[in-house]
Parts: sequence; C-alpha cells; structure tokens
Amino acid sequence: AEKLIIQSEKLKAIGEIAAGVAHEVRNPLTVISGFVQMMKNDKNSPYAFYINLIDEEIDRINLIISEFLVLSKPHAMQPKVFQIDKIISDILTLHLPELQLKNIELIQNWNTNNMMIKGDANQIKQVFINIIKNAVEAIEKEGNISVTIEKTAKQFCSICFTDDGGGMEKEVVEHIFKPFYTTKAEGTGLGMMITEKIIQEHEGQITIDSEYGKGTSITIKLPCVDV
Ligand code: ADP
Ligand code: MG
Repeated sequence: AEKLIIQSEKLKAIGEIAAGVAHEVRNPLTVISGFVQMMKNDKNSPYAFYINLIDEEIDRINLIISEFLVLSKPHAMQPKVFQIDKIISDILTLHLPELQLKNIELIQNWNTNNMMIKGDANQIKQVFINIIKNAVEAIEKEGNISVTIEKTAKQFCSICFTDDGGGMEKEVVEHIFKPFYTTKAEGTGLGMMITEKIIQEHEGQITIDSEYGKGTSITIKLPCVDV
C-alpha cells in the first residue's frame, strides 16, 4: 500500500511539473505565433511554405499544452457542487454539428436528472469532451453513439458512452491511459491519460469495455451528492 501511495504522489508531482512547464511555454509561444502571423501576411515570401508549416506545428504545441493545463487547475480549485447531467447535455449539444456531419445518431438514455456531484466542473467537462471526441473519431463513416446516465445503488452516478466504431485491440486497451499513447496519425495520446487522472481526483472510476471491429463502451462512475 505504501508503494502505491508513493507511486500516486510521484504521478501527482509529475502532473504538476508538466502543467507548470506547459504554462511557461505558452508565453514565448504566443510571441512566436504573433510573428509567424505577421510573416504569413507577406504572400510573396520565399519562405511561405515553411511559415505555414511552423504555424501548423505551433497549433499542435498549443493543443498539447491545453491538454496539460487542465491538470494544473486542482491547486487553485474550490470544489463546487454541480449538476452533471446538465454538463453532459451541454457538451452533447456543442458536438451536434460534428455528429450530423458524420451521420452519427445520438441516443440518450437519461434515467435520472438533477444528479449532483462535487468537484471541478471544467475538469469534468474536459473528461466528457475527450470521450465524445474519441467516440466520433472511432466511427469512420456513420454510426451510433449512446449516452446513458443513471444512479447506481451505492450513491454513484454512472455515465456510459457507447459507440459502434472500430473498437480497440486488447493491446490498445492495456495502454490507453499511458501518456502519449496514440494509434492516430494526428493524436496526442493525452486525452485518456488526463481523463483518468481527473476521474481519480474526483474519487471516481473509469472502465473500458471494447471489442475490435465492434465498438467501445466507456463507463465513468462518480460519487453523487444528495441535495
Ligand atoms: P488520442 O485520441 O489523441 O489518440 P487518447 O488518449 O484520447 O489519445 O486515446 C488513446 C487511444 O485510445 C486512441 O489513439 C485510440 O486508439 C484509443 N481509443 C480511445 N477511445 C476510443 C474509442 N472510443 N474507440 C476506439 N479507440 C479508442
Ligand atoms: Mg483523444
């Protein structure tokens, strides 16, 4: 047990350092990006091709940084009680255009509403954004994503996202929470690592159930607050 505690404190420290570095990198990056935008205005520049590449790579660094920065919040965070089903339905609404574009049907099974949990709403939002993004990316052409929210007997709310996309091979499931593990050409491999960390911080659980070629179910359980 002691080993586990040391392990989890180590992970916490690494997360804090990573988030701190990410934060510090952002400032000079903003300066670089400003000059790149300026250079992009000169359409006749012989370096136009390279400048565009630099710009794209800056976007990528920014994406990685914003994923890490989610982790730097808990220090300052004041846990608040908020309505989890409301947050999820807001996130789904935001993603509707993307779902429509890919012919993805959204099936919502809300068995309860007004489910309250305690924590950092922004972090919890990030969790469900990561999960819906992965589900959309797993579906090649068209498909279904279903979202189930229910209260389980032991005062937990359970949120389950199921997609009928490509699914995962066993090896992928085994590595899914490792930082930078990705099977995508444009992936960062940070989404699920951060998701797991946020869920752990909220004393919840995450389980992955996936079958290659069939689809994936991701279930998140978070302790509910009675109001
Ligand atoms: P990224 O999306 O940047 O690759 P993630 O940490 O979000 O990084 O996911 C890691 C890997 O887990 C993905 O590259 C993918 O192989 C796999 N994965 C996650 N969610 C799903 C899903 N719903 N269906 C199939 N594969 C998934
Ligand atoms: Mg992802």
